Amino acid sequence: MSGIAENLIMFREELPEGVTLVAVSKTKPVEDIIEAYNAGQRVFGENRAQELMEKHEHVPDDVLWHMVGHLQRNKVKYIAEFVHMIESVDSLRLLRAVNKEAKKAGRVINCLLQFHIAKEETKFGFSPEEVDDIMQSKVLNELENVNIRGVMGMATFTDDMDKVRGEFKFLKSVFENLKSKYFMNKSDFSEISMGMSGDYKVALEEGSTMVRVGTNIFGARYCKTDN
Ligand SMILES: *Cc1c(COP(=O)(O)O)cnc(C)c1O
Repeated sequence: MSGIAENLIMFREELPEGVTLVAVSKTKPVEDIIEAYNAGQRVFGENRAQELMEKHEHVPDDVLWHMVGHLQRNKVKYIAEFVHMIESVDSLRLLRAVNKEAKKAGRVINCLLQFHIAKEETKFGFSPEEVDDIMQSKVLNELENVNIRGVMGMATFTDDMDKVRGEFKFLKSVFENLKSKYFMNKSDFSEISMGMSGDYKVALEEGSTMVRVGTNIFGARYCKTDN
């Protein structure tokens, strides 16, 4: 008994209504995903395109896959035919690549704009200024096969929850700003993806609509493939 189903049931009880749980199954075997699926979970996240593609082939078709890790443009093709949401769009070039592959697949792919909210240098993501430039250039009008649904961010990996809270507040303000400036009439620009196993409680207090949780559901990972 691995306890995945129990973990899920307990975790869901803590989640406010309307918040999406993305069960991050990276490095975990397909059997673990199936156990979570049988406990009712449908939204899963992975951080590598190839791993995502391979797992997709072995799970039921109604799984909604979220790509949550840094994505290279030449790997978009592995997931474009089925991925439900790419949460980690961190450049205009990547957004164009997603649009191109989505078009080939005859689809519109949901995307979140990932913002760099952690003070650490190594994390990926846009700055608010970069996204302002993109929005003002109107280039999005040409990208008909992507649907921008909101924002995503990863806080600094630290026990200092005041710092983490500040970063989540910042992401929330970035979202509100974008919403009021550019997406006022787009009701499905509505997602703020923030919060992982160590900081989801703070994220929920700060307005998260989507938490990405791996360890608390599937247990610790033994190989390091985090971004
Ligand atoms: C691994 C990962 C998560 C989940 O991390 P846990 O701490 O195991 O909950 C969430 N988001 C991203 C982008 C990840 O790479």
